[in-house]
Amino acid sequence: MRKETGHFDVIIVGGGASGLFAALLTAMKAQERKQACRILILEKEKKLARKLLASGNGRCNLGNRQVTIDDYETSERGKLEQMLARVPDSFPAMFFKNLGIEIKEDEAGRLYPLSEEAAAVHASLISALGAYHIEWELETEIVEIEQRQKDYRLKDEHGVCRTCKSVLFSPGSQASPRLGGNSSASRLAQHWSLDYFPERPALTALVLCDQRFSKQASGARFKGEARLRSGRTFSGEFLFSNLGLSGIVAMDISTILGRKAGTFQKLKGEEFFLFQEVEPIVLNFVPALNKEGVYRFLLSKYDLLKEKNPELLSASLIPRKIAQAISNRRLKEAKMKSYDELGDRAFREELKRLSGLFCSYELSLSGLRSFDFAQIARGGIALSALRSDMSLHRRRGFFLAGESLDVAGRCGGYNLHFALASAYLAAGGIADYLWPPGRP
Ligand SMILES: Cc1cc2nc3c(=O)[nH]c(=O)nc-3n(C[C@H](O)[C@H](O)[C@H](O)COP(=O)(O)OP(=O)(O)OC[C@H]3O[C@@H](n4cnc5c(N)ncnc54)[C@H](O)[C@@H]3O)c2cc1C
Repeated sequence: MRKETGHFDVIIVGGGASGLFAALLTAMKAQERKQACRILILEKEKKLARKLLASGNGRCNLGNRQVTIDDYETSERGKLEQMLARVPDSFPAMFFKNLGIEIKEDEAGRLYPLSEEAAAVHASLISALGAYHIEWELETEIVEIEQRQKDYRLKDEHGVCRTCKSVLFSPGSQASPRLGGNSSASRLAQHWSLDYFPERPALTALVLCDQRFSKQASGARFKGEARLRSGRTFSGEFLFSNLGLSGIVAMDISTILGRKAGTFQKLKGEEFFLFQEVEPIVLNFVPALNKEGVYRFLLSKYDLLKEKNPELLSASLIPRKIAQAISNRRLKEAKMKSYDELGDRAFREELKRLSGLFCSYELSLSGLRSFDFAQIARGGIALSALRSDMSLHRRRGFFLAGESLDVAGRCGGYNLHFALASAYLAAGGIADYLWPPGRP
């Protein structure tokens, strides 16, 4: 038998960042328009907004001073550009200030709460929900949504139904399942035949084909450059791990290459997303010098130390583990046991070759680490399924926001920016739907 509990103006499916932002913004709109509004947030986890709490390594990089379309990957750039343009630049800082959250900016324009504590942002949001009389229920997963003539009926996993005039659907993506990620968006898209781009892990680690290389270099950090097949280059800090490359730049690259990730393969309990074909990545470990500069440096050190040991000679140029992995691979290719086999002249030639490799080293990427290690997903419900007020074309009163949409931001606060920007647009849409302008 179906159990019914309460009728609401708005039900929000998913109490993550975008759900909480949209709930508050809708309540603020209701207050502005002097309307009573009953809002309920339904969240399947034991806690609201777990990803927000974990964001920025607990520091919560909640936005960026400068946001452009180039900070995002989406299949519908024009549509996203229009959406972003409709959010006033001053809005994010004003929103957080109104909630009593003081913001500071770092040298890269990243916005953080002054205390650099995600927990403080979380606590402010929760107390604001209370102040606006927004209700929420935890450990409640919506498994079925039915559109009726004048309202929507939402059923949870225990068969309990709630009805409402409008829905904000903000269940996030499949990324980071331990923090709430699941496939609610893809299930809805399938159920209602919405255009949907398959989700792929993004802001995750890159997996190298040559596992021996990554194991040898594991733990080494470097500030360098990476060039992709497309010619696009990235610079910043990288970190080698047992499986490949991680760090902020590698994570940004994963979002771009996610488009090429197709099948997945299960290895030792983890699902790796494999590229359709191996992707080359060319690394420059010493961007501060060119090949000739590196060669001159190695030669002068060799003249001084007289040691045929590339790791020792390059010690202050690149991390020792990386030099070791490169020179070991080089020895293997040249079928040599040690550089001592080379005479003085041949070793100098070898140093020239190694200088080239330190500045331009090609490795092959096999794929991406799984959703378990991804901060976000690329793909999701197509933006073309939405009107400009974030409601579905074919279903009046049904709005979407956040990461369930086909929008993936790079590192730097762009994903929480999109959570807030889409919530802002959706809250405006909900308000106009519930209380059309001009009607008393
Ligand atoms: C470790 C980590 C660090 C990050 N750091 C940053 C950062 O510093 N800056 C930044 O901009 N971004 C960061 N992100 C990304 C950012 O947190 C997300 O993009 C953002 O939280 C997305 O908000 P959302 O509301 O769309 O989705 P989510 O925050 O994922 O919220 C969706 C919620 O819906 C719930 N849900 C799903 N399905 C249902 C259902 N059927 N019924 C009920 N509830 C459901 C989920 O449990 C979840 O709580 C980080 C992410 C992670 C994982």
